Amino acid sequence: MTIILESLAEDRWVAPRAALVEIPSALDGRVVAAASSHGLDFAAIARHARQVGGPSLRRLTFHERADLLKRLATYLNERKEALYELAFETGATRRDSALDIDGGIGTLFSYASRGRKELPAERFIIDGVTERLSKRGSFVGTHVLTSLNGVAVHVNAYNFPCWGLLEKLAPSVLAGAPVIAKPATPTAYVAHALAKMIVDSNVLPPGSFQFVGGGLGDLLDHLAGQDVLSFTGSIETSERLRNHPAVSRYAVRFIAERDSLNAAVLGPDVVAGAAEFDLFVNEVAQEMTVKAGQKCTAIRRVLAPRSQADSVCAALEARLSKVVVGDPRREDVAMGPLVGLSQRETVREKINEICAEAEVVFGDPTRCEPVGGDAARGAFLSPVLLRCNDPVRSARPHTTEAFGPVSTVMPYEDLNQAIDLARRGEGSLVASVFTYDPAVATELTFGIAAYHGRLVHVDRDCASESTGHGPVLPGLVHGGPGRAGGGEELGGLRALAHYMQRTAIQASPARLAALTKA
Ligand code: NAP
Repeated sequence: MTIILESLAEDRWVAPRAALVEIPSALDGRVVAAASSHGLDFAAIARHARQVGGPSLRRLTFHERADLLKRLATYLNERKEALYELAFETGATRRDSALDIDGGIGTLFSYASRGRKELPAERFIIDGVTERLSKRGSFVGTHVLTSLNGVAVHVNAYNFPCWGLLEKLAPSVLAGAPVIAKPATPTAYVAHALAKMIVDSNVLPPGSFQFVGGGLGDLLDHLAGQDVLSFTGSIETSERLRNHPAVSRYAVRFIAERDSLNAAVLGPDVVAGAAEFDLFVNEVAQEMTVKAGQKCTAIRRVLAPRSQADSVCAALEARLSKVVVGDPRREDVAMGPLVGLSQRETVREKINEICAEAEVVFGDPTRCEPVGGDAARGAFLSPVLLRCNDPVRSARPHTTEAFGPVSTVMPYEDLNQAIDLARRGEGSLVASVFTYDPAVATELTFGIAAYHGRLVHVDRDCASESTGHGPVLPGLVHGGPGRAGGGEELGGLRALAHYMQRTAIQASPARLAALTKA
């Protein structure tokens, strides 16, 4: 049965009437859903968010909004099994979906808890200290953050239909911003099921959550200076949205999370047999195969001392040869298909591009024999390990993102070169460092920190509790400079600042105290 995706516009579910786009199953190409936003009145949707959703959220204190998030998270947590079932069609294994579904619900819980514990029972935040502005002290100033009066438009990528929607929703709602969520079409049926649950929960006030199944239509034409556009996806789409006339003219707040050529660096002190060597190999293999490598934080560039490159390749080949690719419903399967045949085609093209400067050392990009899967019609792809022997004079392994189970091993000569190579991702979400030498750890950290949103050190002391390279945590920065988009979508309560205005208030101490109840 084909699921026809409805949109939630002005608090009513609206079925699409024309221009339906079919959405195929990743498993066998069967049409599982169809979507279209044709005919939606996007001006009215934006108006509804501003006139109904915004005021109803802004009436509440942070604590009351945090309570909404907690109630919503609890509601979803009790019903998540239906999302898991649907997500199999996207190619996700149960383990993949845990990141997406439980990860998203966990982010709601996290923001709920922080909102209660770390924010005041108020509608504004005092930001920083009071500045003395006069000789006698009768005139002072401070900063306050108040909710913007617009709408937050959330445009998501296909790889995390639940987490993507919820991790943007949590800081928005806590900040008092009504949301219009637009999922990526290839997995929109999972986001649609989630949106139905959000509405059925009756937790969020009217107008505070709307959902677009299908394209964005002319929604961006209706944005203005109190609005926020938060985007996750490719650089190309990001550029298009950032340069939209309304977005640039009205300085619409724009948050972008996009391509990232994340690196893992094996320290020059580490040799085969050392604990950090095994941890490094495990992490790379894991990052290549979780969600079939369709993860913005996946390790794409594997930097190892030249003396260890052969051992690293051999160990990775041994690990990857044990990865069972196939029907994600099966317990013995570690990796499902990519989300669709067109995405697989794109990944194969990118592998070919990288192969102008690298060679395949494991996996055949053109062949895969899935266990229990439909090899002909499913979007299955073997993990593919590449090796680029001259990463200094090569460009593509540093700048071409194959958004699938693909990584490139690159040997480096010394620590300075490792730092130089890591920086050549032109800005990434995350890098991980595997060393037990404090001097190496320090050099690497301060050599590459400016190019990364997050750095993960993994060694024998923390490995058993480490959350690893890939997983994004609500309390820490998710975002990165340059190629990664320059955004900072998560990072504890600082993420609320995207949806709030920072205003300097100058007044007498008495007036300021009365205003801020300090
Ligand atoms: P995409 O093709 O750029 O699409 C992203 C979103 O933009 C989708 O919702 C898409 O909707 C929408 N979109 C596309 N063209 C648009 C337009 N002209 N106007 C308005 N909206 C438009 O990216 P994707 O294929 O979904 O995701 C893969 C990419 O995302 C990879 O490059 C990956 O690196 C990146 N990614 C980054 C992060 C991060 O946090 N940094 C996370 C995940 C993924 P439709 O699907 O309806 O076209």
